[in-house]
Amino acid sequence: MVDIIVVGSGPAGLSAAITARMRGKSVTIIGNSSAESGLAKAAEIGNYPGLPGLSGAELSGKMLMHAVGMGAEHVTGRVTTILPVGRELSVSYGSEIATGASLILATGVVQSSVFPGEAELLGRGVSYCATCDGMLYKGKKVCVVCLSPDAEEEANFLESIGCRVTRLKTKKIKVNGEDKVTSVTADGNELECDGVFILRATIAPTALLPGLETDKGHIKVDRAMKTNIPGVFAAGDCTGTPYQVAKAAGEGQIAVLSAVEYLAHR
Ligand SMILES: Cc1cc2nc3c(=O)[nH]c(=O)nc-3n(C[C@H](O)[C@H](O)[C@H](O)COP(=O)(O)OP(=O)(O)OC[C@H]3O[C@@H](n4cnc5c(N)ncnc54)[C@H](O)[C@@H]3O)c2cc1C
Repeated sequence: MVDIIVVGSGPAGLSAAITARMRGKSVTIIGNSSAESGLAKAAEIGNYPGLPGLSGAELSGKMLMHAVGMGAEHVTGRVTTILPVGRELSVSYGSEIATGASLILATGVVQSSVFPGEAELLGRGVSYCATCDGMLYKGKKVCVVCLSPDAEEEANFLESIGCRVTRLKTKKIKVNGEDKVTSVTADGNELECDGVFILRATIAPTALLPGLETDKGHIKVDRAMKTNIPGVFAAGDCTGTPYQVAKAAGEGQIAVLSAVEYLAHR
């Protein structure tokens, strides 16, 4: 059994693992292949302090090397179930089971289903974040697919920075283009554009851990990143907006410090 299991090997999970090792705790990170993550598809992360100009793949590669170099165990796998068993947490991934005295959920935003063309063109015209990518489309035509409560606000932001915005509320969307987005087909009508912002409501991993409380689709946490389940903490995009690397890394650190305190009193 390890002291801390981290589910998700994005910035939140890796930041948590690094600080766990700094505090002398054993930690296992279980995460999907980082090549499949949204961050790995980001052409450039321009606002992570001290490391400008890195691509998402480079930044996540550096974070992973840092965590593993500090002695964190990293396994690739999709976690399917988490069960509290007595004072421990049993985590199933593939055909394996890991057991931890505490757990940090750092699963990012879980997309329910994707539109045709969306995954292929993610980072090449398809974006989930107006704040991150809006400036790339200043003066250009963008479609905003408004499927989340704050989508209108994001569309207003894009207009305010000079994007030529078409708002779409349908779920019948197809994203078109070879190397980059050239148009979107909405309800059968093709609309030329340079980018498409697909803004969905987040689905929290309640199915992963029965009884986990959520708030508007995000895992409900307090300022110490504690969830409603003893010994379980959460960090990063899965706890809510803004979806940003620096916020995820900061929350990962808070979550692990709370886990260390929990272990001390356990
Ligand atoms: C194209 C693009 C551009 C972006 N640009 C910027 C930018 O410029 N600046 C910025 O600050 N942010 C940017 N972001 C946002 C940034 O990538 C996220 O805010 C950040 O990665 C969140 O970190 P996280 O650790 O919370 O989640 P993630 O990075 O999403 O990591 C979560 C990981 O957990 C894995 N996971 C989920 N469920 C399971 C499970 N059940 N079992 C195992 N693994 C699981 C996921 O596959 C993923 O690898 C961008 C995002 C995208 C997609």
